Amino acid sequence: MNVASTGNTVGKVTSAGGPGFGNKRSEGLSGKILLKVSDLKVSYGGIEAVRGISFDVPEGEIVTLIGANGAGKSSTLRSIVGLEKPASGSITFNGMELTSMGTEQIVKNGITLVPEGRRVFVNLSVYENLRMGAYLRNDDLAKDLDWVYSLFPRLKERHWQAAGTLSGGEQQMLAIARALMSRPQMIMMDEPSLGLAPIIVQEVFDIIREINHQGMTILLVEQNANMALKAADKGYVMETGRITLSGTGKDLAENQEVKEAYLGKSRK
Ligand code: ATP
Repeated sequence: MNVASTGNTVGKVTSAGGPGFGNKRSEGLSGKILLKVSDLKVSYGGIEAVRGISFDVPEGEIVTLIGANGAGKSSTLRSIVGLEKPASGSITFNGMELTSMGTEQIVKNGITLVPEGRRVFVNLSVYENLRMGAYLRNDDLAKDLDWVYSLFPRLKERHWQAAGTLSGGEQQMLAIARALMSRPQMIMMDEPSLGLAPIIVQEVFDIIREINHQGMTILLVEQNANMALKAADKGYVMETGRITLSGTGKDLAENQEVKEAYLGKSRK
């Protein structure tokens, strides 16, 4: 397996659909490349955080970038959504070049980011946070609210509760639900498992799978390589700003180098 090997492993899935997504996975994947990142470089002053990476996110799939602290994963996501200006390279989404667009325009074109550390509006209620997620829309939100509350019944019970008083897991669910309210075509998540207890991490990953089964394309950044590779169709390993390995989630999870470096398993 090497950087050029990017085969797919796709399992059978069945589920009911939410509003505004592409095809459900049970209806098959299109094979279309939704996001294409080519030779992307991101620098902060003299520090080259991302050193010319290329990867694809096919429509309807879960793709993960794994790697240690400081590998450049967050910088990659932030540059896709226009929060960092790339030093060079190209990012296309549905064939449109994003590098010259501002964040608002990128969100309008169908990408949303669930940032690291959740960052919900702590003084606003669950409901108000969800409305904030839809701030670029001026159509009826009722159907989407019903749908996110069906995905996250615990949020429905806490409709008027201040987001700052939710547990860490509930705040992560709210951050994901808020991102869904913009009706994205692709959702990017930056370390959704960070700081959560194992049982809650499992719940977060169950939701990630469910949203994907309903047709959402997902780009997931994780240090929890074990969970991320289990969920992903395709994975890329980042080390100090470069992609060093790629493959199906399953192949990477079985790769000896990955096992030793990221899955805490030593050679027998
Ligand atoms: P983590 O999981 O710790 O967030 P990461 O893989 O997401 O790590 P980045 O956050 O993208 O990595 O950081 C990559 C490199 O860029 C690091 O060396 C970091 O110190 C540096 N960096 C990130 N953001 C900035 C910034 N705003 N200013 C200067 N350097 C930065």
